[in-house]
Amino acid sequence: MTPTPTPKQVLREVFGYDAFRGPQAAIVEHVCAGGSALVLMPTGGGKSLCYQIPALCRPGTAVVVSPLIALMQDQVGALRQAGVRAAALHSAESGASAAATWRELQAGGLDLLYVSPERLLNGDLIERLADLPLALFAIDEAHCVSQWGHDFRPEYLQLAVLAERFGTVPRIALTATADPRTRTEIVARLGLEQAAVFLASFDRPNIRYLLRDKSEPKRQLLEFLASQRGHAGIVYARSRKRVEEFAALIKAEGHDALPYHAGLAAETRSAALERFRHGSGVIVVATIAFGMGIDKPDVRFVAHVDLPKSLEAYYQETGRAGRDGLPAIAWMVHGAADVPPLRRFIEESDADPAQKRIEHGRLDALIGFAETSSCRRRILLDYLGETGSGDCGNCDVCLEPSQAVDVTEPARKALSTVYRTGGRFGAAHLVDVLLGGDTTRIRSLGHDRLGVYGIGRELDRLQWRSLFRQLTARGYLVAAADGHGGLQFGPDALVRPLLRGESRLEVRLPPPARERRGGRS
Ligand code: ADP
Ligand code: ZN
Repeated sequence: MTPTPTPKQVLREVFGYDAFRGPQAAIVEHVCAGGSALVLMPTGGGKSLCYQIPALCRPGTAVVVSPLIALMQDQVGALRQAGVRAAALHSAESGASAAATWRELQAGGLDLLYVSPERLLNGDLIERLADLPLALFAIDEAHCVSQWGHDFRPEYLQLAVLAERFGTVPRIALTATADPRTRTEIVARLGLEQAAVFLASFDRPNIRYLLRDKSEPKRQLLEFLASQRGHAGIVYARSRKRVEEFAALIKAEGHDALPYHAGLAAETRSAALERFRHGSGVIVVATIAFGMGIDKPDVRFVAHVDLPKSLEAYYQETGRAGRDGLPAIAWMVHGAADVPPLRRFIEESDADPAQKRIEHGRLDALIGFAETSSCRRRILLDYLGETGSGDCGNCDVCLEPSQAVDVTEPARKALSTVYRTGGRFGAAHLVDVLLGGDTTRIRSLGHDRLGVYGIGRELDRLQWRSLFRQLTARGYLVAAADGHGGLQFGPDALVRPLLRGESRLEVRLPPPARERRGGRS
């Protein structure tokens, strides 16, 4: 028998790298020793090696659950090229090739077996695996198990069976989604209570965040692209129609641009992907259909001409820029007109009411981020659960003088209104109270008799809504746990000083209604 190689040897000899990156070494050591793990690492952080190396250092086959066939095929291809015995089982595999894979597996001839969750859970694969020596289970894109998450896949719920049936086989769950709620759900659903958690920083310091008020998006985009000549990039737009429009516009300006959306033929799409990957300076104009699994390292910019649907989505989409670590730009134009179509989209989906409220909350976080006058990166990292970072010096707010105004007084009024109404109401009602609105709800609740009724006429409705979102984005207000959209106070340490006048607050607000109607915007 050949001696088991060390992780370091495998890293060098199989993968050709000199050193582990970030938490990889600790993760690999932990899993090699038989421990289970939850790995939270941004896209491009190097998650694959965290299970591929233990797969080669431990006896038996490693089973990797992955939701994307294209990704599986890429991984298996690359591993085979490196001399690793890897194969995949999924719906796109022919019967004959599945049978061959199965024979290899049974003969102990596979180091890694990639499977789709459906393939693993339907039929008797689980039963058959129970008789084989297994090195580990890796659950890639583990956020798919979370109903709060942005990419829920019901079949992932059944992966709970792995903890029940294979208690002694280490399980390693990996994801690039870090928000604490999703994390808790992964742990609960995959039985990872005893697992070690490895959290890499989600900061992407080489990405510069530049947000602009949307006035003439076409002209603004062309100006931005003029500064990016020869660079590969992605332009995200909301709809197929907008994608086609913007692609034509960009092409007419002499850029090498291609449209990409789900309405195009499969061959057209894969040709576009191929050209983007291997060409130089190609710009893909796309809907979010262009996403998961793009591993082009030298994407120099990601531009949004429409608002994405959540702050997580924004982070994932912009995260496709600069995976090689060199400077890259996340550029976005946004305006109030972006919001209603996204709200409608949520309302018209077939999600249940609780889920819809969550989606609205996710969108609010993004709007708060777009409207903030604090460092963008700080807001983003706070949201991802990484608190305590300073101003980054690499976003528009840090780089360009801001137009923030002091809103300490209105913020105190807003908080008082939350308090006086019992912390049970959403922003729409709270703003009605502040503006002294005459609604049935206000009258039936007796809110017109409160001291805060009508005390907020210095701002208009849109400005109040913006302020409430920003108070939420900064943690002064949080959504009530009952999921009914009511707002409550955030941590005392934050709220109290503001209420007492010991701290001040500056934010950027939309212009007052008078100016919005007057000037062309
Ligand atoms: P993720 O799955 O986290 O998005 P990958 O596992 O695909 O990331 O890794 C991203 C890129 O970084 C890949 O090209 C991979 O080969 C490379 N990489 C990963 N670990 C290392 C390392 N220790 N040294 C050098 N390159 C690495
Ligand atoms: Zn900054």
